[in-house]
Amino acid sequence: MQEIVIRRAIVSVLLLGGPAFAQSTKPIVHVIGTGGTIGSAGDYWGGDPTRVAIADLLRIPGIDSVATMESEQLFNVSSVSIGPARWLELSRRVSELFRTRADIAGVIVTHGTDTMEETSYFLDLTVSDERPVIVTGAMRPSNMAGADGPANLMNAARVAASSDARGRGAMVLMDDRLYSAHDVVKMNSTRVEAFQAPEHGPVAVTDADGLFFRAPSPGRKHAAFDIADVKELPRVDIVYAYAGADSVPIDAVVAAGARGIVVAGVGRGGATASQNAALKRAVAKGIVVVMATRTGAGRTGRGSDGIIGAGDLNAQKARVLLTLALASSADVAQAKRAFIEHQ
Ligand code: ASP
Repeated sequence: MQEIVIRRAIVSVLLLGGPAFAQSTKPIVHVIGTGGTIGSAGDYWGGDPTRVAIADLLRIPGIDSVATMESEQLFNVSSVSIGPARWLELSRRVSELFRTRADIAGVIVTHGTDTMEETSYFLDLTVSDERPVIVTGAMRPSNMAGADGPANLMNAARVAASSDARGRGAMVLMDDRLYSAHDVVKMNSTRVEAFQAPEHGPVAVTDADGLFFRAPSPGRKHAAFDIADVKELPRVDIVYAYAGADSVPIDAVVAAGARGIVVAGVGRGGATASQNAALKRAVAKGIVVVMATRTGAGRTGRGSDGIIGAGDLNAQKARVLLTLALASSADVAQAKRAFIEHQ
């Protein structure tokens, strides 16, 4: 059940016969809590965390001067538990909010950092509204000295409340930097400055005196994929390429019913002879294969032999795009177009 907690800064004016309320003119920011380290306390590093509700995480001194904050707890889980079924649920909830609430300036999603790349990119590809969707989290649990959650939430609120953030799709706010969901990658397992956008950099930085965008908004109003009629997302697996790898993992995902395979390939996108032979067999069966790179940054080749190049998307993001492309069509040519369009 969604618990909606509304905390509004209201100026009350006492009049003869009873109180009257003058509504705040501050932007309204709606926060959807989904769990992750930001929502953890207890003995986190000892493996026994407790969950903190999003309404409690929002008790941040000064945040009410940025925006009128309201929140709901959609999930309260670690982000490895947020996969295709929850992507659909979350995206639909954000779209519903935008459809039904003209008064909201923007939406924040709090999320575990481990799979934030995937969820934010899914939202970017599926939420059609020019108002911002800001995904944020924390590298340190809420009860740890130097917890980064409050600063990230405060900055996310500043972005979500800002009209300059409109038309830019979904974005990730971590450690004073705002990244496009397409570009952002988690590049460190433990540090507060874990997120980067290799080759692209942040789209904006937040400082004490403001929010500074690098370029004007492209003014995007519509997302690439309409998921209104999608009941279930197709199975797409990732297979890693490494020296001496054989075909076993590829044959296994084919046998498990994968409709698409993304390879985290070596270099510009390569695999061993045994893997290539297995991929060829998969392509012949109508499975769509995308070649990404395991290097961490840079582009792949455009692809050949029926294999699509992931461009600058890493394997986990290429999987999100391929999943959505296959949900709308099983056609290889259409999937290829999706990868060309989303570069
Ligand atoms: N395990 C956590 C998660 O992704 C890590 C984090 O939030 O930083 O849910």
